[in-house]
This record gives sequence, C-alpha cells and structure tokens, in this order.
Amino acid sequence: MKEFAYARAGDADEAAALIAERPDATYLGGGTNLVDLMKLGVTGPGLLIDVSRLPYDRIEHRDDGSVLIGATVRNGALAGDPGIRERFPLLSQALLAGASGQLRTVATVGGNLLQRTRCGYFQDVTKPCNKREPGSGCPAIQGAHRDLAVLGTSDHCMASHPSDMAVALVALDAVAHLRSVDGGTRTVPVAELYLLPGDTPHRETVLDHGDLITAVELPAPPPGARMRYRKVRDRWSYAFALVSAATAVSVAEDGSLRDVRIALGGVAPRPWRARIAEERLRGGRPDEETLREAARAELAEARPLPDNAFKVDLAIDLIVAGVRDLIARKDRV
Ligand SMILES: Cc1cc2nc3c(=O)[nH]c(=O)nc-3n(C[C@H](O)[C@H](O)[C@H](O)COP(=O)(O)OP(=O)(O)OC[C@H]3O[C@@H](n4cnc5c(N)ncnc54)[C@H](O)[C@@H]3O)c2cc1C
Ligand code: SF4
Repeated sequence: MKEFAYARAGDADEAAALIAERPDATYLGGGTNLVDLMKLGVTGPGLLIDVSRLPYDRIEHRDDGSVLIGATVRNGALAGDPGIRERFPLLSQALLAGASGQLRTVATVGGNLLQRTRCGYFQDVTKPCNKREPGSGCPAIQGAHRDLAVLGTSDHCMASHPSDMAVALVALDAVAHLRSVDGGTRTVPVAELYLLPGDTPHRETVLDHGDLITAVELPAPPPGARMRYRKVRDRWSYAFALVSAATAVSVAEDGSLRDVRIALGGVAPRPWRARIAEERLRGGRPDEETLREAARAELAEARPLPDNAFKVDLAIDLIVAGVRDLIARKDRV
C-alpha cells in the first residue's frame, strides 16, 4: 500500500481548504470501500481527509413530510431510524439488503453514494481496465461479465453500479446537496449524479475535485404510497445485487395507479430509473400482460452479452412482481 497522509477535518471549510491544495487528496467517509481499493492498489491518494466527523450526522424529519439526511449518518442508523422505517420503508429495506451489520455501522451516506463498481477487472491491477486506466481496454466484454450491466453501457465499459441505497434514493426522487471548495452549494437529483460511461468511463459522477456531499434530501412521499425494495442475489446475504428493484406506487380510489416509480439496480452503470415503464403504467389499472409489456419496453434498449442476458428477464420479472404486489397490498411496507 502506498504511503499517505491523514487529516481529520473539523468543519467543511477546513476540509475544502485541505483538498483544494492537493489534487492527490480525497475524502474519507467510513473507509469501507476506499481503504479496500487502496490496499488493492486501485487508487493511491496522497492525503486522506477524514470527513466522517463533520456535523452532518442528523436525520431531520420536517413538518412538510420531507427529510434531510446528513452525509455522515451511518447506513445502519439510517436503516433503523423510526421515521424512515415508517414512511420510506424501501430505503430502510435497501440499506438492510446491503453489506453486513458491521459495515453498515461504519459506512456513511456520502460514501455509499460514491462507492466504486465491483467489476473484478477494475479491482485487479494486473488487468487492463478503461475505468482505472483510460484507453487500456475492457476485458469484461470478452471475459467475465455475468454480474455487469445490460443498460446504459458502451463499448468502453459495462460496469454496473453497486449501491442498493442509491437505487432506493432514485425511486424516491432524492436530491443530493453538494458543497464545492469555494464554499458554493448546489443540489443535484441523485438520478443525475452519475454519468454513463460513453468513451470516458473513468468519469463517473458530476462532482468536481473537492465537492463534498453534505446531505441527501427526500421529498415527502405521495399520500398513501406503498413501497418495497426487492433484491435478487447469488446468496441470501452479503452479496451485491444481480438485479434489484425499488418500487413505489399510490393507488387511487378507483384502483388506478395515481403514481408509480421504479428504479432498478445491478443492470446499469447507475441506478436506472425505469421512466418508460412508469409512463406506460401511470393512470392505468394494469393487468399482468400490460405490466409485462411496460417492463419489456423498459428493457428494449438492453445490450446483454451471453453471460448476463438473464438479467433482462430478471429485471422484467422484478418490475412486474413489484408493481403487481404493491397494487394488491393495502399496507405500506
Ligand atoms: C464485503 C462488502 C459487501 C458489501 N455489500 C454491499 C451491498 O450488498 N450493497 C451495497 O450497496 N453496498 C455494499 N457494500 C459497500 C458498502 O456499502 C460501501 O463500502 C459503503 O457504503 C461506503 O461508505 P463509506 O462511508 O465507508 O465510504 P468510503 O469508503 O469512505 O468512501 C467511498 C468514496 O466516497 C467518497 N466520499 C465519502 N464521503 C464523501 C462525502 N461526504 N462527500 C464526497 N465524497 C465522499 C470517498 O472519497 C470515496 O471515493 C459492501 C462492502 C463490502 C466491503
Ligand atoms: S467493465 Fe468497466 S470497470 Fe470493468 S473492465 Fe471494463 S472498463 Fe473496467
């Protein structure tokens, strides 16, 4: 492991001043992803700026039903928050479906959003990888790609995004709060935080060097929303998603879908908001065949390879089952 310096930032100004001086510096949240990548030699920052003790550790439930979640709130604390469990159960379910209890106790909201892909070639520095080393090639396309993406990929990279929490946040229309090194602030919908690979797969997000995630904001859910996170994986626990679906619906008195939101995980380089399927389903009273047609339309642009083609059918099944079961259910969890 390369030598590095460590500094704990007392406040956001200090963190910004430290990172502005050093292009080779990076923020440290819980370290559960970054430190692993440093050990593997995938990344080698010269300075780690620990932001995990910055005062962004509160979950603020507001009177209008929205919630402001600080970036240093730990994943376990967020999953267990009574207000989140009650009103945004799919977020709690997504967090509990990820990693392990120990990891969730340490991992932060900011770090979870910016964790890196688990593509095996990206993590193996003896192999080429366009994301790690631009222009070196993508061995996954000819090689081991079973876990990788089928939507939004390019000829340069087909890595899938790993975060379960981000999928839930995209379905909930969450917005990330960012603070730049000059102290300026801006908000970006979580759905727009991540870039598709195109021919620059090493550029993964819209963040500039030194941008700090300070919070994530959830708008109030639609009245009577029913929601659920489903994750299909190789093992029951401690495994990343092959395909996951965060689904939220609200059903009108006449049984039609007043609102429907679907985000998919494991199928794309970013959490994939299934807007085509949503559009087809909103306002209707879909039967099984209509649901399946909407899901098929969403996956129509998929570019599967031999070993991950199963993800297309799996994603269709998850969309269908997710919406169908929520329509049939009266409770919200
Ligand atoms: C064995 C194992 C299994 C796992 N399984 C799952 C799973 O099934 N599902 C899942 O979703 N996750 C899973 N994870 C990933 C885990 O959720 C992440 O490692 C964790 O969420 C990262 O959070 P962190 O605070 O430790 O981030 P760190 O490792 O500290 O940082 C990650 C990145 O975020 C940046 N960063 C951190 N905080 C900020 C901030 N506030 N502003 C700007 N940049 C910031 C860092 O610079 C770094 O680039 C697993 C991890 C392990 C080790
Ligand atoms: S899929 Fe992306 S991350 Fe994986 S080897 Fe190819 S370029 Fe690298």
